[in-house]
Amino acid sequence: MTAQIELKNIDKHYGAFHALKKVSLSIEKGSFVALVGPSGCGKSTLLRSIAGLETITSGDLHIAGKEMTGVPPRHRDIAMVFQSYALYPHMTVEENLTYSLRLHGVGKAEAKAKAAEVAATTGLSALLSRYPRQLSGGQRQRVAMGRAIIRNPKAFLFDEPLSNLDAALRVQMRKEIRALHDRLGATSVYVTHDQIEAMTMADWVVVMRDGVIEQQGRPLDLYDQPVNRFVAGFIGSPAMNFVDGVISEDGRGVVVGAGDRIPLARQAEPNRKVVAGVRPENLRVAEGAASFHFEVGNVESTGSATYLTSKDGALQLVQTERLGFSVGDRVGLDIDPALVHLFDPQTGARI
Ligand code: ATP
Repeated sequence: MTAQIELKNIDKHYGAFHALKKVSLSIEKGSFVALVGPSGCGKSTLLRSIAGLETITSGDLHIAGKEMTGVPPRHRDIAMVFQSYALYPHMTVEENLTYSLRLHGVGKAEAKAKAAEVAATTGLSALLSRYPRQLSGGQRQRVAMGRAIIRNPKAFLFDEPLSNLDAALRVQMRKEIRALHDRLGATSVYVTHDQIEAMTMADWVVVMRDGVIEQQGRPLDLYDQPVNRFVAGFIGSPAMNFVDGVISEDGRGVVVGAGDRIPLARQAEPNRKVVAGVRPENLRVAEGAASFHFEVGNVESTGSATYLTSKDGALQLVQTERLGFSVGDRVGLDIDPALVHLFDPQTGARI
């Protein structure tokens, strides 16, 4: 596999503020990579550094094998798609699509033919003579996409492109963007704070915090094997439950308050303090006797799923059955020992 974008030890300082700390990342040709993390973690800075919109303080950046230091954005042969679409309001869809081609000296007839082709790919053929104000949010997003693909760039960089759309349209557009990526055989880097978007669209997810890559990998590997408590809590919705406890004398369980016990599928170090992590969908209401309990503080049903939250708010359970519990009920829970994660209380590292 060849890396289309290669970042090595990238540092970015904004004055005294250290926004990217020794970030290394290899983006394979044809892959769809999502950068996720909480607000301020540096994902936009990383994307903008690839685009050349930010100057990196130190480190190496290669695009298609070429060192990018000093190469201005317009010569990097990449296209950016922003959440604000950045369409020209006084130009028609066709003019918006062809603008950059015309700027690069492509003739009128050739640009028009290219626009027709791109419009067909992005479902805009019937809208070429409209102005942006005459389009829906999703259609505007498609024009922004069309404008990005028309120059056949080496990579697409997306910065939260769906943030302005309503929930249903977001779901539709993320499928469209992914399908377009596949059709074009493109290389895409996609910034989002929405881990569901990252998990569903990307082949490779990069989780960032405070300017550092905490973990990168295939979406389900991050879900199943988070390297630390931060990634465990960030990936997955609703979020993983965390319970403080101590490993039992026999090493086969985590003793938690109220004499309850979370079973383990492996032997852990007896008497060690730990944080046990269990995903809400891995907690099951017990049929018979249970070793772990909580008192119901809240019940929500969406029709397809029931969400129970414990009285102290610390635990959540999701089941696809309709559960007939009320606030104040004491519920016994079954936990599959193989699905219990353990973390170090101090460092947060996976044990
Ligand atoms: P968000 O999801 O909120 O957009 P982000 O992860 O994309 O967050 P960045 O925009 O990359 O975060 O910003 C990373 C950090 O760098 C933030 O703490 C931000 O305040 C800081 N920062 C960004 N641009 C500048 C700048 N021009 N000058 C100083 N600090 C900046």
